[in-house]
Amino acid sequence: METAALREADLAHVWHPFTPMLEYGREETPIIVGGDGFFLADVEGHRYIDGSSSLWCNIHGHRVPAIDEAIRTQLGRIAHSTLLGLASPPSIELARELCLRVPAGLNHVFYSDDGSTAVEAALKIVYQYHRQRLDRPAPRNVFVSLHAAYHGDTVGAVSVGGIDQFHRRYGGLLFPTIKVPAPIANHAPSGHDAASYPAHCMRELEQTLRRHADQIAGFVIEPLVQAAAGILVHPPGYLSRVRQLTTELGIPLIADEVAVGFGRTGTLFACEQEQVRPDVLCLSKGLTGGYLPLAATLVTSEIYAAFLGEPAEGKTFFHGHTYTGNPLGCAAALASLRLFNDNKVLDNARIVGGLLASRLASLAKHPHVGEVRWKGVMAAIDLVGNREPHEPFAADLRIGHRVALAARDRGVIIRPLGDTIVLMPAPAMPPDLAGRLCDAVFEAIDSVLAE
Ligand SMILES: *Cc1c(COP(=O)(O)O)cnc(C)c1O
Repeated sequence: METAALREADLAHVWHPFTPMLEYGREETPIIVGGDGFFLADVEGHRYIDGSSSLWCNIHGHRVPAIDEAIRTQLGRIAHSTLLGLASPPSIELARELCLRVPAGLNHVFYSDDGSTAVEAALKIVYQYHRQRLDRPAPRNVFVSLHAAYHGDTVGAVSVGGIDQFHRRYGGLLFPTIKVPAPIANHAPSGHDAASYPAHCMRELEQTLRRHADQIAGFVIEPLVQAAAGILVHPPGYLSRVRQLTTELGIPLIADEVAVGFGRTGTLFACEQEQVRPDVLCLSKGLTGGYLPLAATLVTSEIYAAFLGEPAEGKTFFHGHTYTGNPLGCAAALASLRLFNDNKVLDNARIVGGLLASRLASLAKHPHVGEVRWKGVMAAIDLVGNREPHEPFAADLRIGHRVALAARDRGVIIRPLGDTIVLMPAPAMPPDLAGRLCDAVFEAIDSVLAE
């Protein structure tokens, strides 16, 4: 198809996710036809640095020979067979390799396709676990999650979410949850002092968990960084305090590492940084190196054991998705895990993380920058109409969106969250390229603000 015909058919038939389609129709969005390394190429021959890791999932770049080859080899055997009643070598090998790398004790892997399904499975597993556990079965019904949480778009995942713009309108569909405040200083409501707010949140956390301990089915958290909320970085010690309290109160901890896993925070998994072992771990985005949709929900042997029984006992987990454990996805994931070692990807991520930190620090005093935040290779710049007192830009100015368009003109693809500019280089991106990404985005910010 010619470019014009592609655009016309795109607009006529493709409903893009998280996209205001009227505005989309007024703009010429790149049609990506290829990629290599950390670049994307569009139908008109432009090349762009992939500054969002293709929505936070790419790890080693595009068209990586080792991953391409692993998929081709698997394709030469079979593209898909089911895990319902059958097994497959890639799913077996990947499960074993994952269990060796995640915090010790998470020994059982339940496969699905996306982050949302990984979380959805986690919620149902934990809910069922309490009803079947041998020690003290309990009708624990309610999940606890954080304000501004994001765990995916299916109805269960939205129930434990807390981003008004995405979640509020579905209120009537959702099951009730308990929310605890996110320990983020600049989210302090009026009457609170930013400096003491995280400590206040710690107390709220403890009081809420103690008060409702007998009803709480599980505590769901994105460890260290609430990514979709705007790369909100938790203060050190928060995650380990959550683990301490949930352990004491017998509350399963569900760590959603869909965004933060696979090197984004500088370690393979974010939980490692506070020596936390969750009871359930959700993985997806970076699992296949950003190649194919695949997700994994890992659980401890204690949780798994509650599902063991004769068929007639009805303890089975009656849940599963058609493409569960897809062999192509598992083959890509195995190749990606090997590359972490072969290419010392975590060492690179730490170098790139340091570079982002120093480049962002230089923006911190900018009159239209409310705050800059980073953790590992995840970074955010809040653009504001006024810094002190804090005033956002009017939403209809579409500042974040315009910065993304201006960055595109400078050869960079980014995806902002409202007026928060997000930089999400792949953990394996060479530092000089990450520097060019910063240059282009900073220029784009200046050009939009100058208008
Ligand atoms: C992206 C994301 C999800 C949802 O993953 P999908 O693959 O989009 O369904 C869940 N949790 C977190 C933390 C995420 O960032």
